[in-house]
Amino acid sequence: MTEELFREDAFARACDASVVALAPDGVCLDRTVFYCTGGGQPGDRGRLLLQDGGALEVIDTVKAAEGIVHRTAEDSVLPPVGARLRAEIDWERRHRLMRMHSALHLLCRAVDCPVTGGQVGEGRSRLDFDAGEAKLDKEEIAARLAQWIADDRPIRHFWIEADELAARPELVRTMSVRPPTASGRVRLVEIEGLDLQACGGTHVRSTGEMGRLEVGKIENKGRQNRRVNLILAD
Ligand SMILES: [Zn+2]
Repeated sequence: MTEELFREDAFARACDASVVALAPDGVCLDRTVFYCTGGGQPGDRGRLLLQDGGALEVIDTVKAAEGIVHRTAEDSVLPPVGARLRAEIDWERRHRLMRMHSALHLLCRAVDCPVTGGQVGEGRSRLDFDAGEAKLDKEEIAARLAQWIADDRPIRHFWIEADELAARPELVRTMSVRPPTASGRVRLVEIEGLDLQACGGTHVRSTGEMGRLEVGKIENKGRQNRRVNLILAD
């Protein structure tokens, strides 16, 4: 079991850790700041700094049979189990993913139709909605997002018991189909006054931190399915 530091503190960029297991293409650590692929958000990239002065490039972070695997480049020589190292994420990339991921929570509120899928990217993200008969207006969505970002509303997370979530299915909306649970608890993410949902991803601290966003094309993906694209403008 890896202690998932990124769930409590999305702003932790590095941590000291030990290798607890090896996978064919990477290592598992006792604790990590690397977000692992899930809920539409890609896994982190970064570096593992070894005690002998060497460094391993982490090209992706995924959940595998061994646990959370920090995947390394193909020709990497993996450190042995027990090795101490410093794990450091590519913060610039992660912060863009956090801005985009958080913005999708706003988009979800702005459109207010059931979400059927989504993908978070560094510069471009999307959500698919079952829009029914509703007509989605790009300018209207953009205006809502801009207003909420200007409001600079706080974003926070807290945990509830899994039973409580079962009784409130409306909290499972979009980003993660099955929100991650830890010892019977589920993580909720709240954007003050706007959105509350179960989510295991990483978020910025307030809507203002999302920065400049543009609403891209709204595409038809099936009879009622509409894909709304969001772009980071800086
Ligand atoms: Zn989220």
